[in-house]
Amino acid sequence: MDLKLYNTLSHKKELFEPLKKIVGLYTCGPTVYNFQHLGNYRTYIFEDTLKRVLLFNAFRVKHVMNITDVGHLTDDADNGEDKMEKGSRREGKSAWKIADFYTADFKKDIAELNIIEPTVWCKATDHIKEQIALVTTLQKKGYTYETTDGIYFNTTRFPSYGELVRLKKQELQAGTRVAMGEKKNEHDFALWKFTRPGEKRQMEWNAFRHKGFPGWHIECSAMSIKYLGKQFDIHCGGVDHMSVHHTNEIAQSECATGKHPWVRYWLHGEFLLIGADGAAGDGAGEKMAKSGENFITLATLKQKGISPLAYRYLLLQTHYRKQLAFSWQALRSAESGLQNLYQTIARYDKPKIGCAEFEENFKNAINDDLNMPQALALMWRLIKSDYPSSAKLKTLFEFDKVLGLNIKAEWKRRNQKVPKRVMQLVHEREKARLEKNWQRSDELREALEHTGYRVEDTPHGPVTVKMV
Ligand code: AMP
Ligand code: ZN
Repeated sequence: MDLKLYNTLSHKKELFEPLKKIVGLYTCGPTVYNFQHLGNYRTYIFEDTLKRVLLFNAFRVKHVMNITDVGHLTDDADNGEDKMEKGSRREGKSAWKIADFYTADFKKDIAELNIIEPTVWCKATDHIKEQIALVTTLQKKGYTYETTDGIYFNTTRFPSYGELVRLKKQELQAGTRVAMGEKKNEHDFALWKFTRPGEKRQMEWNAFRHKGFPGWHIECSAMSIKYLGKQFDIHCGGVDHMSVHHTNEIAQSECATGKHPWVRYWLHGEFLLIGADGAAGDGAGEKMAKSGENFITLATLKQKGISPLAYRYLLLQTHYRKQLAFSWQALRSAESGLQNLYQTIARYDKPKIGCAEFEENFKNAINDDLNMPQALALMWRLIKSDYPSSAKLKTLFEFDKVLGLNIKAEWKRRNQKVPKRVMQLVHEREKARLEKNWQRSDELREALEHTGYRVEDTPHGPVTVKMV
């Protein structure tokens, strides 16, 4: 089956056909003024799954992810404080230091979640020149106007404004619901903001006869066009980006490049919500958000003894276009499900010829708009099947190219040559356990861990695992 993806633009599943040999993929990255939370990681894991599915289908992929380190204001529109300056005030460090710290933390987390790094990382502050050039092009083409606080995009000059979210024409007219300031139309947005008189900003540049900084949306247009060209295949983000950020990206990019559509497939991941037992405090049913103070980080999860990949495994159980309420209980059962998987395959024979029937069904599931719940169900059906373990293992290694659950590495950790003296400790411990000599058994477990190994007591007997 060919790859079908649900395109937000058409509201349909469509056959995926790339423009060129190499698929161009742009995913909106983190705003680095705070830790990323599990909600953010839901979106990044969905995007990573998409990328893995593309690779599984033998496409080559050029993946670009930005780092928003300037210009994202606290109300997501054109008012409020720059999130970076807010982070700087909160922590008493420079905005640049804040950006470096949270970028490094993000990169460490994504490695632990087995998210494949993008081909290109790009920071907004490294691409000021490109953003100024894009605003200048829009000015020259007559799509902008200037107010006392910045340069704005005039949405009435772009007839298909709002197409992505099917905004109705009457909603495009100036209304009273938003603070209009000097804006001419409700949906007009800042391309470039001027530093307010008397304001002390750490991040500002000289352009357009003022000191100022880029609007949030312009960075994604400028950088995606720079690295992927004037037209490219796929652009992703969370559903919260559809109505403002992505809608504005489309407007400014299509007007600047004259290409329609600028991006051919738009894919959006649904929210992770705060579950009933999701966090200290209230907020059940709300989106997990950085501003909400109710967010859970990967570090919190690890402190509770849960592995990052258990979170990945939990997410794979729900389709990316469905909302998911976070729950510690569900996460704990995902952890035991994952450990059960590792322990079950620990005794499988070396991989040989795989199970073609399962591989075909797996591909059909993932190619049906990333039906990962079905793909996981197939994985367990394979494990329970009568195929020889060498065939199962070969096929599981294939599946894991998409699942990203470290199946190969975990099998290897349990199937390494174990030194004799370690094996001896394992046997002694097993003997102590059978004799119900728990104290001795615990001592031996500790002694074992000093050698860099631990024992897993599985229903199939003890398994020796090399520690990482
Ligand atoms: P930000 O750092 O706020 O710019 O967000 C980074 C990414 O996380 C974006 O693609 C957002 O759409 C996404 N995101 C934010 N909150 C959530 C959530 N609760 N569930 C899923 N994705 C989210
Ligand atoms: Zn973006």
